[in-house]
Amino acid sequence: MGSRKVTEQLDWNGKKVTVAGLGISGIPAARVLHGLGAVVTVVNDGDDERSRAQAAELEAEGITVRLGDGATLPAGTELIVTTPGWRPDKPLFTAAAEAGVEIWGDVELAWRLRGPDAAPWLAVTGTNGKTTTVRMLASILEAAGLRTAAVGNIGVSLLDAVLGEERYDVLAVELSSYQLHWAPSVRAHSAAVLNLAPDHLDWHGSMEAYAADKGRIYEGNQVACVYNVADQVTEDLVREADVEEGCRAIGFTLGTPGPSQLGVVEGILVDRAFVENRQKNAQELAEVSDVQPPAPHNIANALAAAALARAFGVEAKAVRDGLKAFRPDPHRIELVEEVQGVTYVDDSKATNTHAAEASLAAYDPIVWIAGGLAKGATFDELVQRSAKRLRGAVLIGADRALIREALARHAPEVPVVDLDRTDTGAMSEAVREAARLAAPGDTVLLAPACASMDMFTNYNKRGEAFADAVRALAATGDA
Ligand code: ADP
Repeated sequence: MGSRKVTEQLDWNGKKVTVAGLGISGIPAARVLHGLGAVVTVVNDGDDERSRAQAAELEAEGITVRLGDGATLPAGTELIVTTPGWRPDKPLFTAAAEAGVEIWGDVELAWRLRGPDAAPWLAVTGTNGKTTTVRMLASILEAAGLRTAAVGNIGVSLLDAVLGEERYDVLAVELSSYQLHWAPSVRAHSAAVLNLAPDHLDWHGSMEAYAADKGRIYEGNQVACVYNVADQVTEDLVREADVEEGCRAIGFTLGTPGPSQLGVVEGILVDRAFVENRQKNAQELAEVSDVQPPAPHNIANALAAAALARAFGVEAKAVRDGLKAFRPDPHRIELVEEVQGVTYVDDSKATNTHAAEASLAAYDPIVWIAGGLAKGATFDELVQRSAKRLRGAVLIGADRALIREALARHAPEVPVVDLDRTDTGAMSEAVREAARLAAPGDTVLLAPACASMDMFTNYNKRGEAFADAVRALAATGDA
């Protein structure tokens, strides 16, 4: 198979491009394309005050904006560049398919615009753990003295990373399933799928379609396709991928690694993939306690990050230094405070059952604060698997009855407090109730397994409300 390093040079001059959606990826895409000489029209469903202000700015720069109609394909469109969130079954895309017009997402655009000496991509996807893993990876690459950035939903945007002044040796790239759906030609140096649990199925249409979009990340990989040994689907996706000759399948596991795997042996992260004679040899990378926080799923993230870094040729010492230097983002298993022997942990980012199950697996015994918007999820499996660790549960939010019923079915002995209020004081009451249920040595864990928007602006605000209530409890004995 041939090298794919040569970037396609497109002639943008006069090309009629429709950008679908204003917003964080649409606006920069429109500006970049306009700057390249394309004739850009932005179409947007909304026609509110904010979009009108954004449209006025773009119009002043010479970009056409059509508000209140994101469905009709502008005449003469040669290419659509879409905001990743737009669903594939939108009429605009049906019309584009009928007219034979290509559709790219923001990631595809960045990929096509990168220069001939562009930095290779180490890419990460998965239902949960993407941001954490990409940031761990960037930390490891930095520790190895490489010029790099964590790119994607956090930190630097992909367009800035490929078009900006800064020169990179390698990029650590987070890719969502939406972005992968609209990125047909992206070819990573190496990529990892961390895990796969049902999520965003309304967007993708089915679990199969969701998995297939995630699996796209392996297409054309050059050195390594990194999969999760505990999640068979991720390995199946590697098998189905069409990769460059010599590209290897590398597994990560919380158990003892086999050849071509990274894993854990007696509290040490070890590499049996990127070593001489992997049948016999293993390389120590770091200690489990070097990973912050050392919860099982986070060790898995660290192993995936290490696998990608090792695939890029990073030495073992940099893996340890990078993991040691890494600090998790807020609201991801964040230790808030210990009050009267009880540890309070904020995992407000656990917005689905898969994430909540991972954090519930990290503590014992737990007083669990959960609830919010269920987004169509069911809670039976989560409760069944976590029941024996639960000292009690405090339920909040719109869909709390679903969790209450699952608890009644599978853990009837666990005391449950059901809070029937959604005002701003509700979290304080939840923390007070949790403190009442907890005994010294317990962990009170906010891992809602639900989205936050029924009660809070976002998961950050939910986490902050929790932390404020815990601090009030610490200061006064009352949340
Ligand atoms: P993402 O970027 O995929 O949303 P984050 O790193 O922001 O992932 O973590 C999101 C949530 O998922 C957190 O609540 C965290 O506790 C949980 N999580 C992180 N890594 C994993 C994993 N490997 N498996 C399951 N849950 C995880």
